[in-house]
This record gives sequence, structure tokens and C-alpha cells, in this order.
Amino acid sequence: AKERGKSSFKVFNQKMHDQALKLMALETDLRRAVDLGEFEVAYQPIVCLETRKVCGFEALVRWRHAEHGTIMPGDFIALAEDTGLIYAIDNFVLAEACGQVKQWQIGFGPHMGELLTLNINISGKHFGQPMLLNQVTRALTDSGLHPSALNIEITESALMDDPAKAEEVLRQLKALGARVCIDDFGTGYSSLSYLQRFPIDVVKVDRSFIDGVEGNQDSQAIVRTVFSLGKSLGLKVVAEGVETPAQLAFLENEGCRFVQGFLFYRPMSAAEVHDLLAGGSIG
Ligand code: C2E
Ligand code: CA
Ligand code: CA
Ligand code: CA
Repeated sequence: AKERGKSSFKVFNQKMHDQALKLMALETDLRRAVDLGEFEVAYQPIVCLETRKVCGFEALVRWRHAEHGTIMPGDFIALAEDTGLIYAIDNFVLAEACGQVKQWQIGFGPHMGELLTLNINISGKHFGQPMLLNQVTRALTDSGLHPSALNIEITESALMDDPAKAEEVLRQLKALGARVCIDDFGTGYSSLSYLQRFPIDVVKVDRSFIDGVEGNQDSQAIVRTVFSLGKSLGLKVVAEGVETPAQLAFLENEGCRFVQGFLFYRPMSAAEVHDLLAGGSIG
């Protein structure tokens, strides 16, 4: 048994070594990707249930790697955070998407297009950085996008890391005229008092509660609570990860007004969004 323990330790070590090498290669690649601008923005429509039309988009980053093809954010955001490359990546998405949505507002306006909104993800690590305010100001000025069209999404757990600091940053973003949105709501154990204390405009119910909500009474209770909380606190509530008609039926019955999910649209390229809007799906 002793021998076996020894050799499995060796194997374990070799594996860790391989992983470390892989990670170092990925870091080098990621650095180069930032320099070369290998990122693209995918847009997932957010649907207004009243009209069944598109009222806005969430911008989601994609890495177009020369050899490995498309790399999804789940496979590089953590490394980007550890290396500080996230500041440049978030900022690229912010600037690119503000300019893009402004173009759609002009192209498909003035009555409908100008109502389109844009949701941007800002990493918790980036959120505490002094540069964020300048980056947001710059993106708004350069694009001409009206500040109220911009929703900054920040996860519940990032807000709870340092609530006092978070409150300050949220107020600064609000002072610019932007809206703030709690992402993945329900997963980060935030105390309800923070919902009242923070100047929040939107909450997004995490996909894990929508997944299986048709048959799961606990998920139903949580989703119901978020909608009623939203109502009493005057927050816009968006359900994310809606995949089935049964989930949609439950949500509509609970008074849900905004949804995002594969049942309606997957994240798509700017060209695909253009065709969608040209086809009259805007509202
Ligand atoms: P998130 O902010 O919660 O974004 C929603 C994720 O759920 C997206 O995955 C989207 O494609 C996926 N999704 C949407 N509807 C459905 C559905 O009906 N079913 C299922 N199964 N999935 C659905 P994606 O694009 O892979 O992004 C993953 C995460 O990476 C995001 O989660 C966000 O935390 C992060 N991320 C993406 N783009 C950025 C970015 O520009 N900056 C930062 N800091 N993080 C980003
Ligand atoms: Ca998000
Ligand atoms: Ca989310
Ligand atoms: Ca998430």
C-alpha cells in the first residue's frame, strides 16, 4: 500500500506539472490575444414578454484563437482575472458593444431603436478598480450611447466582498447616468438589506433557479420571492437561462416581464443581430 501511495503521488505531481505548463501557455496566448485584439462580442437578446420583442442585449465575450478556434469565457475569464488582463478585456467589450448598440439605435430608430439597452459584465476584480469610472465615461462619450441605456452587471458575490466599497462604486456609476444590475442573483448569499441599501436598478435571477423551476417547489418559492421583492423595491427583474415553454409559462404566471434564454435566442454575432432587427423583431 505504501508503494502504491508513493507512485500515485508521483502521477499526481506529473499531472499538476502538466497543468501548470498548460496554464502558462494559455497565459502567454491570452496576453498576445489582448495585444492582437482576438476578442469578439456576442449579443444575446433580452426579450420583453409583453410584446415578445427584443428590448436589449447582454454582451458576452468570445476569444477567437488562431489555432484552437472559439474559446468560451468560462475557459479564460478566471485566468484573465488572475493576470489582470480582465481590465483590458472588459474594456474592449464595453467600448465595442456601446458603439454597436448606438449604431443599432440609429439604424432602427428613432422610435423603437433608441429604446434598446445594453448589458455589460464587469468582473468583480475590475469593479473595485479606480479606472472603471473613466472607462465607462469614455465608452459613453466615444459611442454617444445615452448613459441610461447602459446596464452594468456585477455578480452578487462581487458586491458582497466589500459592501461599503461596492456601494460607493455603484453610486458613482449611477452618477454617470448608467444603470446597475445584480447578476446571478440568489447565488451569493447577500443579505436582503443590501438590496435596499445599494442603488440597484435590475436583478437577474440566476439560471440555476430557472432550470427545473416547472417541477421544483424550492426553485418556485425562490423565483416568486425575487419577483415580489423586485416589485416592492421597484427593481426590474430579468429571468435568465429560460429554455423551455414550461419554464416560460411559470414565469409569465408569476408576472415576469423580461427574459433571456435559449428558448428565444442564443448569443449571436453583430451581423445576426442586424438581420434580426431588420426583420422587425425589435420593440
Ligand atoms: P453570465 O453573465 O451569467 O452570462 C450568461 C451565460 O449564460 C452566457 O454564457 C450565456 O450564453 C448563457 N446562457 C444564456 N441563456 C442560456 C440558456 O437558456 N441556457 C443555458 N444553458 N445557458 C444560457 P457565456 O457566454 O459562456 O458566459 C459565461 C460567463 O462568462 C458569464 O455568465 C459571465 O460571468 C462571464 N462573461 C462573459 N462575458 C464577459 C465579459 O465580457 N466580461 C466578464 N468579466 N465576464 C464575462
Ligand atoms: Ca451577466
Ligand atoms: Ca448571469
Ligand atoms: Ca453566471
